[in-house]
Amino acid sequence: MEATTANSYTFKAEVKQLLTILAHSLYKERDIFLRELISNASDALTRIQFEMLTNREVLDADAELAIRIETPNNKEDDADASNDDAKNAPKVLIIRDSGIGMTRADLERNLGTIAQSGARDFLSKLETGKIEPGDMIGQFGVGFYSVFMVAEEVRVISRSHHLNESNAYAWISDGSDQFRIEPATKAERGTEIHITLKKDAEEYAQAWKLRQIIKKHSDFVRFPIFIGDEQANQQTSLWRKNASEVSADDYQKFYQQLTYDFEEPLTKIHFSSDAPVNVRALLFISNKREKTMMSARKEPGVMLYSHNVLIQEYCTDLLPKWLNFVDGVVDSEDLPLNVSRETVQNNRVMKQLAKTIRARVLRELKSMAEKDADKYTAFWNEYGRAIREGIAIDHEAKDETMPLLRYATSKSDGKLLSLEDYVKQMAEGQNELYYVLGDDLKSVAHSPHLDPFKARDLQVLYWVDPLDAYIAPILNEYQGKKFRNIDDPELELPSIADKNEPETKENDSVTDADFGILISRIKQILGDRIVDVKASKVLKDSPIRLVSPKDDMDRERGRLNRFFDREYKVPKKLVEINRTHPIITDLAKTLNKPLGSELVDLSIEQMYDSALVQEGLHPNPADMLPRIQRLMAMALNRG
Ligand code: ADP
Repeated sequence: MEATTANSYTFKAEVKQLLTILAHSLYKERDIFLRELISNASDALTRIQFEMLTNREVLDADAELAIRIETPNNKEDDADASNDDAKNAPKVLIIRDSGIGMTRADLERNLGTIAQSGARDFLSKLETGKIEPGDMIGQFGVGFYSVFMVAEEVRVISRSHHLNESNAYAWISDGSDQFRIEPATKAERGTEIHITLKKDAEEYAQAWKLRQIIKKHSDFVRFPIFIGDEQANQQTSLWRKNASEVSADDYQKFYQQLTYDFEEPLTKIHFSSDAPVNVRALLFISNKREKTMMSARKEPGVMLYSHNVLIQEYCTDLLPKWLNFVDGVVDSEDLPLNVSRETVQNNRVMKQLAKTIRARVLRELKSMAEKDADKYTAFWNEYGRAIREGIAIDHEAKDETMPLLRYATSKSDGKLLSLEDYVKQMAEGQNELYYVLGDDLKSVAHSPHLDPFKARDLQVLYWVDPLDAYIAPILNEYQGKKFRNIDDPELELPSIADKNEPETKENDSVTDADFGILISRIKQILGDRIVDVKASKVLKDSPIRLVSPKDDMDRERGRLNRFFDREYKVPKKLVEINRTHPIITDLAKTLNKPLGSELVDLSIEQMYDSALVQEGLHPNPADMLPRIQRLMAMALNRG
């Protein structure tokens, strides 16, 4: 923005470009300009309300906090509609608030310079073609400019709340490439947006149309919005009502207007209590953990009110960090009104509030888990990681969070089991909780470690979230029973007969000598990447498995580095091979033949790599492709 004359300014290139796009945007999106202007007015009212908590020395301290919309030359309202002049005069829409107001410098900056980076970001998002301009302009700090979707000309007349600012100023632009600022007359505090509507946007001078948009997008704005003398929004603080008085429809609308998420939330928590602390709260857990670009709530935290005054827009002190996906409103009459944002944190009432809110959220999750398995599964799939994070960063939360954990298991057919269920289903003689680690359910289901467990019908928890291995040492035990990684070679199984144990094993398809040669060959090839190679006592269907040298749960924490793309070293494992598996016997035999060795060496490498993939430990499986091709070529040539 450059000053062309003392009072005239040119918009920066990005803003100009944005204005051009907005001027040509689709009709169907244009409604949202009203939402944006009302939201700005509501913000300005919130700010003066907050200011006045501690400072009554402002202009018009007693003015009603409200938004007023006027359509001075609306056809419907005009008794003299036959008058041609009135008919042809451009329609005007005025949006007035008694908010904090803007000084001359504010007007210049807030509606001029500051938009530059937001406009740039917004344009680059538009270029991806995935969004329409109306969708989310508000998220880029350029919502005000959406007024140019409907405006021929805009005059923003504002008077600051500062007592020493005795002048009002007007910011004027036709949305082309300039704006100007000039002195104006305005007696009261606040801002008025005078919009001269484009010919094809005259519908916005009709009260019914405005009312319809407000119902849809701004019904729960906390300040009254008047069209003429009539209030157009409900303006209810829904959270202050009794749950029995609120319709499902109102909850849904409230949630939408709070978040701009048009899906239903996964769950809502609406409660009130007077002891030990006064609290009215309406909280939501959305369907998706990740906020979309569309979301109106840009940061984590809940809105904190006291006596219906917004104290903090994103309050993160009421819930532990790992529960920061909970959104909504918390209101307490016990918070002193003169509390500043800084002292909120250390307030005694806040501590009690936090305790209450946390307990209430956890209780809701627990009861969801008990009463509505499908809903809880949806919750777990979306937020299970957050619960694990809770355990990782807040060890004290362990007792509260362990009942929330859910896992698929080797016997559950994809269904999720709680630890309590698992323990109930433990076999006789089993006194540990077995788990197997891997990247995903599919690969873990084929884990060679499962061989002896499947054979004995023992249930194993599938731990496929990268955090599972990380939190294993923290979890340590459940109901006095230890968690046990089944890749542990020392693991002693309860004395249950193997269902299909063959009478005696046919071990003689490969001679001891050949098998010994194979073992030394594997040691030679894998070198110091592994600890040792041994014949397995437990493998059945799998040729090989990698086991951990000793039972130390911490050893698995390195897995996280791989997941986060940090420097990662493949852990050294002990290799167990299955002497009865055809691949192993064939390898041992091939080793003795001339020309066998390249095939054997490549096969050993490949077997090891496959086992790493199976374990979820391979740094980069694509590295295997050239070798696989080579093996295929060899196999085909031999064909
Ligand atoms: P955002 O509201 O996301 O910051 P906008 O483009 O809508 O972006 O508004 C830019 C700025 O102009 C606001 O941050 C605010 O400082 C100021 N502003 C807009 N409307 C008003 C108003 N009615 N009263 C006071 N300030 C306003």
